[in-house]
Amino acid sequence: MPELDILPTPRGVDMVSPSRASRLFHRSSSQTSPPTQHKTLFSGRPSSVQVDIPHGADDDSDIIIPDLPPLLRGHPDVHLRNGVIRSARLAAAGESDAESAYFVADLSQVYRQHDRWKRLLPEIEPFYAVKCNPDPYVLRLLAALGTGFDCASHGEISQVLRTDVCPDRIIFANPCKAVSFIKNAARSGVNVMTFDNADELYKVARANPSAQLVLRILTDDSKSLCRLGLKFGAPLVTVPGLLAKARELRLTVIGISFHVGSGCYDSSAFADAIGCARTAFDMGLAAGYEFTLLDVGGGFEDATFEETADVLRNAIDLHFPDRTRLRIIAEPGRFFVARAFTLATNIIARRARSDGATTEVQDEGDDQPSVMYYINEGVYGSFNCILFDHQEVHPYVLSMNGSFHLVGTEDLRTCSIWGPTCDSVDCVCPMTKLPAELRVGDWLVFNNMGAYTICAASQFNGFAVSPITYTTGDGLGSQETRRVLKSAVNAANA
Ligand SMILES: *Cc1c(COP(=O)(O)O)cnc(C)c1O
Repeated sequence: MPELDILPTPRGVDMVSPSRASRLFHRSSSQTSPPTQHKTLFSGRPSSVQVDIPHGADDDSDIIIPDLPPLLRGHPDVHLRNGVIRSARLAAAGESDAESAYFVADLSQVYRQHDRWKRLLPEIEPFYAVKCNPDPYVLRLLAALGTGFDCASHGEISQVLRTDVCPDRIIFANPCKAVSFIKNAARSGVNVMTFDNADELYKVARANPSAQLVLRILTDDSKSLCRLGLKFGAPLVTVPGLLAKARELRLTVIGISFHVGSGCYDSSAFADAIGCARTAFDMGLAAGYEFTLLDVGGGFEDATFEETADVLRNAIDLHFPDRTRLRIIAEPGRFFVARAFTLATNIIARRARSDGATTEVQDEGDDQPSVMYYINEGVYGSFNCILFDHQEVHPYVLSMNGSFHLVGTEDLRTCSIWGPTCDSVDCVCPMTKLPAELRVGDWLVFNNMGAYTICAASQFNGFAVSPITYTTGDGLGSQETRRVLKSAVNAANA
């Protein structure tokens, strides 16, 4: 008989009574007690959790945005744990979907990234790429911090305008737009837009002749996770012809944009691209255009941001030494949000590996997964980033056997992790190592789940999109985040 079938009964959160739930999930009841050592695996997450804030018990009446969930305080780890406790209570009360996966969003992380941007690239105005995560709180916070927005559709433009952002803080950065979208944008006052082909010029000449056009050029995107050059960007050799056509149609071209590709892991791509942009600026002069806008696009990675900022500043100094009449903008997406969202998922099923090779669970050493865990989020949901954004994810254990207090000496076992749908493409993690004791009902957490996740999650197979708990954190920037949001809300209500 396969080993899994004779393991002891799972002692998951769905098995506990309400009173046991609170006993099982010990919570430090005093805020002055020493930090709980929360042993974590694999991901190097900060391990101290000091303040335990009961869900909804703190005073959050100072920031109320209609139709949005409350904005809590406290470290995201606290809210991750509270989610597990809440789930146990719901399960005990017989609620359906009690063990639903959930996100915790720490908005102070977005604030800190904005701060980092301002410090390292003070000359470059960020226009947040809305498609990356159009979360209403993220948009409100960035709007309050004064960023612009990169929109690609009528829907995105409408959403940003509803956030009380002036249309001149929006760039319509989709080089291939439907005519009705160009007209609608003009009606809303959005006039700055990109193009990379002659047809687009004819459409703009018809739909919004006073548009301010930005020519998106093709640059080397081979050092990126997502190569956008396959779809967009005018090769430099075509630039003189496109500019001549724009002149002929009496259109206004104000500058050049590029995108080195999303998830750019080689900062030198930015230096090359700035060189190409310089060439395009010179082609502009030859065509009678004096460009005043340089848009360096997106692609900024959290891990390499300092290096990228250095490379970019140096390249700009080299190729654009005189910036008196030059405005420089960028379109960062994942940089702002990737680390701000954390996803907690519940193990809903477990079985022996199934590859037809064996019916037995065997310990085949470290190189083959011997057990398959099924969690309640998958590639049709928020893990679509695995398919579309070429991400690799690895979880750590949030709770096991009804406890948050993992000892860290557990035996690890090689395993694979699967989503909840009935499709075999729904694999979250083909190989990772987790404690051998892990059972149905235990919770796994995935960090860095803010970029290109929730926005493209489907409800395939009837699985709902995971809900989000919002916090402003408890560390650096948390007070400022609340202050900025609060003043924006007050201004809107005034
Ligand atoms: C997707 C996209 C971005 C954002 O890219 P990131 O890699 O998330 O920074 C910026 N500009 C355009 C035109 C895009 O399509």
